[in-house]
Amino acid sequence: MSVMKKNRGELIVLSGPSGVGKSTVISELLSSRRDIHFSVSFTTRQPRTGEEDGVNYNFVSREEFERMIAADELLEYAEYVGNYYGTSMKVIQEQLDRGVDVLLDIEVQGAAKVKERCPEAVLIFLIPPSIEELSRRLHRRNTDEEAVIQRRLEKARQECRECVHYDYLVVNDTVVSAAGAIQAILQAEQCRSGKRLRLVQDIIGRD
Ligand code: ADP
Ligand code: 5GP
Repeated sequence: MSVMKKNRGELIVLSGPSGVGKSTVISELLSSRRDIHFSVSFTTRQPRTGEEDGVNYNFVSREEFERMIAADELLEYAEYVGNYYGTSMKVIQEQLDRGVDVLLDIEVQGAAKVKERCPEAVLIFLIPPSIEELSRRLHRRNTDEEAVIQRRLEKARQECRECVHYDYLVVNDTVVSAAGAIQAILQAEQCRSGKRLRLVQDIIGRD
């Protein structure tokens, strides 16, 4: 455990095609890193079976979402396969100001906006072992109609091209290995010299 008190939390963005396993890997990660705040997005999509309002998403109407856009309440938002998705600015700022790390699960356009507004954010892209495996996962999840699955697969090919704009690329082969790789990235980011200058200031000062 780190003894260093952090000033500001780290903003971590996880993207990847629908069905690659982002939610599953995030659950695994959060089970061992309870100090990370997962940002619950706002969406106009209908809840899937088992999804809870306020836990997986804040489910809102299109009118309410458009009100939030007009009131500039969102850090970023995007339209994805016919629905709006967005991140509340207020909640993120509060957590980061308290020194808490914040994890966003957002698609590529939103991630680009976050990087623009917060250049210090750490961007991680999750890919499947293959497109066939992605298709199997989307079908096995059994939450979307075939036409939606086909649109998501088509979108996946476009999205994966955007991975070059990310800091890290992680393959979700097994959930445990992918969550482990993300843990390692977060640890390495915490050790960046630029973020640890306070640790050497005492030493330099003693010369
Ligand atoms: P996403 O959040 O990226 O849309 P999910 O976490 O809902 O994806 O995962 C999609 C499906 O793939 C789920 O049925 C999940 O159980 C399964 N899955 C996730 N990761 C793996 C993995 N590493 N190996 C096999 N199946 C996986
Ligand atoms: P799903 O409908 O499968 O839950 O999510 C569809 C896509 O929307 C995923 O790629 C997910 O990362 C993305 N997403 C979820 N929340 C947000 C958000 O707040 N902003 C943006 N830009 N994308 C989001």
